[in-house]
Amino acid sequence: MKNWCWLNLGRARTEQEWKAIFRRMREAGVHAILPEVFNNHEAWWGSDHLPVAEALLERLIPLAHEADLEIHAWMHTMTCNIAEIYDAHPDWYDVSRRGDSAAVKPAYVDYYKFLCPSRPEVHDFLKRRVAELAALDGLDGIHLDYIRFPDVILAEALQPKYDIVQDREYPEYDYCYCEVCRDAFRSASGVDITAVEEPADNEEWRQFRYDRITRLVNDILAPIGRAAGKQVTAAVFPNWRHVRQEWHVWHVDAVLPMLYQSFYNEQIAWVGGQCKAGIERMQRKGGSKPLYSGLFIPALDPAQLSEAIQVSRAAGAAGVSLFNFESMTPEHWQAFTTATV
Ligand SMILES: [Zn+2]
Repeated sequence: MKNWCWLNLGRARTEQEWKAIFRRMREAGVHAILPEVFNNHEAWWGSDHLPVAEALLERLIPLAHEADLEIHAWMHTMTCNIAEIYDAHPDWYDVSRRGDSAAVKPAYVDYYKFLCPSRPEVHDFLKRRVAELAALDGLDGIHLDYIRFPDVILAEALQPKYDIVQDREYPEYDYCYCEVCRDAFRSASGVDITAVEEPADNEEWRQFRYDRITRLVNDILAPIGRAAGKQVTAAVFPNWRHVRQEWHVWHVDAVLPMLYQSFYNEQIAWVGGQCKAGIERMQRKGGSKPLYSGLFIPALDPAQLSEAIQVSRAAGAAGVSLFNFESMTPEHWQAFTTATV
């Protein structure tokens, strides 16, 4: 097994504190850490084109290695909440079927400002970020998060939180209907999607949007990391259709599906079912790769964490990934260590 842990960088820590944290994580059975180095508005490395919170990643790489941990740069991808970007380039952002720009009127929450995956300018912007990370000595991998469209249908348990019912695909949550996407689809299919009565029923349009994200991963971003010898991994959704994320065909080194059972009103057995379903989808597409079961610690007590690890392993997962470090209590760590040895 190989086990991972997502880690936020907001809290200031001394080098000694980081060393102690990494040593304890490794002793507990973690093999790879995922520090959040781009959180949609600030970078935690010495970027030359993004607002920099602190050039911390460069300092963490040797400390992680000293503790025998791999270190993977966790970056938000399509969400971009940098004011200089949305002010200067509102046209880079997704447009909903209702015609609203995600830069101005995002769905659900203010930070849901998603970039359009069809725009060459967006590709250049994202390539630059991945290239900067790929150039960092010693970094083991680049982890793509928010590599998708906004949820056209939210996970079941989240809908009441926003006081909405999504029994089908509604226009205000359905993306991207910008000019570039519409033109590209028209060239490929001969169909003007704005003239189609029910776009949600158009299988070709659905596939077109899966392919926009897949192309970004397979042809544009992953090759930059791979060429520099970095592993490329992604945080992905079990309800992949609802975020237009056909991750089972992606050319990445591993996938970390976020199997957060409480978001879907499901029990722990569902976590195993989703591991199995994901592995089978990858196998059917001929591109099997390791799947690490992403576990949502706030919805798991220590005994449930043990159970989630067991069902994931039994279903073929190559390990688990903990979300997140801050949520792990000493009792969770104990349960984790016992369940992973
Ligand atoms: Zn678009």
